[in-house]
Parts: sequence; structure tokens; C-alpha cells
Amino acid sequence: MQTDTDGAALREAAALIKKGEAVAFPTETVYGLGADGLNGAAVRKIFEAKGRPSDNPLILHIAGKKDILKLTSGLTKQAEILIDKFWPGPLTVIVAKSGIVPDEVSAGLDTVAVRMPSHPVAAELIRLAGTPIAAPSANISGKPSPTDAETVLADMQGRIAGIVDGGACEVGVESTIVDTTGEVPVILRPGGITREQLEEVLGKVELDPALAGVEAAKPKAPGMKYRHYAPKASMYVVEGEALAKLPLLAKEAANFAPVAVICGEVAESMQRTQNLHILNWGSAKTDLAVKLYRMLRRCDKLGVQLIFSEGVTEDGIGLAVMNRMRKAAGRQVLTLDEIEALLKNSSQLKSFVLK
Ligand code: AMP
Ligand code: MG
Repeated sequence: MQTDTDGAALREAAALIKKGEAVAFPTETVYGLGADGLNGAAVRKIFEAKGRPSDNPLILHIAGKKDILKLTSGLTKQAEILIDKFWPGPLTVIVAKSGIVPDEVSAGLDTVAVRMPSHPVAAELIRLAGTPIAAPSANISGKPSPTDAETVLADMQGRIAGIVDGGACEVGVESTIVDTTGEVPVILRPGGITREQLEEVLGKVELDPALAGVEAAKPKAPGMKYRHYAPKASMYVVEGEALAKLPLLAKEAANFAPVAVICGEVAESMQRTQNLHILNWGSAKTDLAVKLYRMLRRCDKLGVQLIFSEGVTEDGIGLAVMNRMRKAAGRQVLTLDEIEALLKNSSQLKSFVLK
């Protein structure tokens, strides 16, 4: 079932959720794959459809701020401030969980992730279902998150009971996750609400060390340990001073295999050829956020061998975008020195492209 967002269609989708089925729906961040968050058997269907490891917990989506109270054994002051300031919106809080949250949702942790989305379709669906909706992104595990219904369909056809088509998502990257259970709030995943916005209301906010690529013995957000958002091609981030050499590198690399460049500013000094695909997001970082996942999937469709992606500075939404871009690239970066060495030696460049 692929539905519109009119009243009857939403009632049908809500009925499926109440019956314990999994249904995809739009939010302001990305499309979610939802099931009744208080029904363990229903939640297991999400894990099956995505092929998601069962130790990676889900976010519970609610339609009203007060609905968090029955999901938690108590909110800290920081959680209250964040809920007051940023809900509804792309912010998830980690709080101590109450007894009604099934282990399938929290993956056995004593905390639970909760968010109140601002997308009117999501809000209405949750309200009609009358239960918190557990929902990760509606993609096959490890692939880029879907930001439109067609992409959900490509991954989930035959695996789920329905898709509510609400058009393209506004933010394009997932929610910011903040652990509010400790003394100082910790960003576990950067997202639609920026670090600067959080600092404005909370004062001190820490970034989880795993975000810098430091392997924690036990990551706070279990999702941190999995490779994410990965395209099929080998991908490299190029940023800062190295960007000046990106147009030449891409042009030369395309002599050996199909190459794609995901870029903004450097787009104007690049020339598309049969083997060189230029995916231009424009000039604003918010546009990159909206388009990044779609561009990664486009690279898969083009069948390129190699992707170069222009990095942006990590202020504002740049922190979230670069977190996803680096993960998609498996943390591979090309420095100016490395690019210059490749450009000096054509056989080295060839084996770099073809490896
Ligand atoms: P997704 O829904 O695919 O965006 O993934 C949800 C993210 O929330 C994953 O990275 C999870 O690891 C994280 N998460 C969910 N519940 C918790 C929790 N109780 N503590 C820490 N991280 C969580
Ligand atoms: Mg996801």
C-alpha cells in the first residue's frame, strides 16, 4: 500500500500500526519505518525489514510533549529545557526509561530515545495510532537514509505493510541525539538541531568522543559502531586547501573509470564528461543536508567506481553533514600532499582509481 496523506489514507496507515504492522512515513528529517513502540512483536518487524542488528535501539516518536512522561522514570532539568525549547522538531533526547518500554526498543539499555517530530503527517499518524511509534530510518541497514517515498519503495517493497507518501523531507539528515541522563548533556549524533542552538539554551554541551572517530570500548549510541550511509563505490572526502586540486584530480581519475564528484563551491571549475559526473548541491550547507543521501544513492545508480566529496566547515548543520559524509566515506580523506603525489604519477593514479 502506498498512500497519500489525506485523512482516509492516514487512518488506514494508523490502523496497520495498531494491528502490529510496520509502515513507512515522512518526518521533517528522513522517512521513518514505524511500528507500535509498545508492542515488542511489532517492533521486531522493523528490525527484520531493515536487516538491522538487534543491539541497535530505536527512537520512540510521540505526538505531544507530555506523552514522554509515561515512557520515562524521570526527566532531568536538561531534558525539560530541550523539550520545552526544541519540540516539536529534529531533536531526540535519551532519558531513563520506564517499565512500559519493551526491550526490543531500547535493546536492553535502561534508557530510551524519544522525539516529537514537527512534520504534520508524522504528528497526525502518531495521534491516530494512539501509541508511541518506534521508527528508525526506512532504509535497508547500512544504506543512506531515504528522503523521499520512491527511495523507501526501492528498499522496502515487499518487506512492509505500507508507505505514506508525504513528498521530500525538509531537513534531509537525521535528528540530533542528546543524552540528557548525565551531569553534562552529550551529543551522541549531530543532526537537524545544531550544537550552537543547544549551547545557547544549555550552556555546556559535550560531543561524544566516538564522533571524532575515537573507538570507544562501548559506544553510548550503539548505532555509532556500524558503518552507515555507505554508497557502493569507494569514496573520499576532500576539504580545505586540498579542494583547489579536486577539479584536476577528478578529471584525471575519470580517464581510468567512471567518477562522481559531490560538490558545491568547486562545481563551477569542473567540466562534466561522459566518465565524470558532477553532482552539484549548490551553495548552502542546508542544501547539502537535503541532497546528500539522494546523491549517494545516485552514485550507486550511475555505477561509478570512485566518489570524491567536497567537505564543508563543521559549524551549524555542517557538523551533522560532515559526520554523515565521513561515515559514508568510511573516514577516507585525501590531503593536498596525497593528491599532488597522485597527479605526478599517472600509473599510481590509475591503480588508486581501479583498486
Ligand atoms: P535511526 O533511527 O536509524 O536514526 O537510529 C537511531 C539512533 O538512536 C541509533 O544511532 C541508536 O544507537 C540511537 N539510540 C536509540 N536509543 C538509544 C539509547 N537508549 N541510548 C543511546 N542511543 C540510542
Ligand atoms: Mg538509520
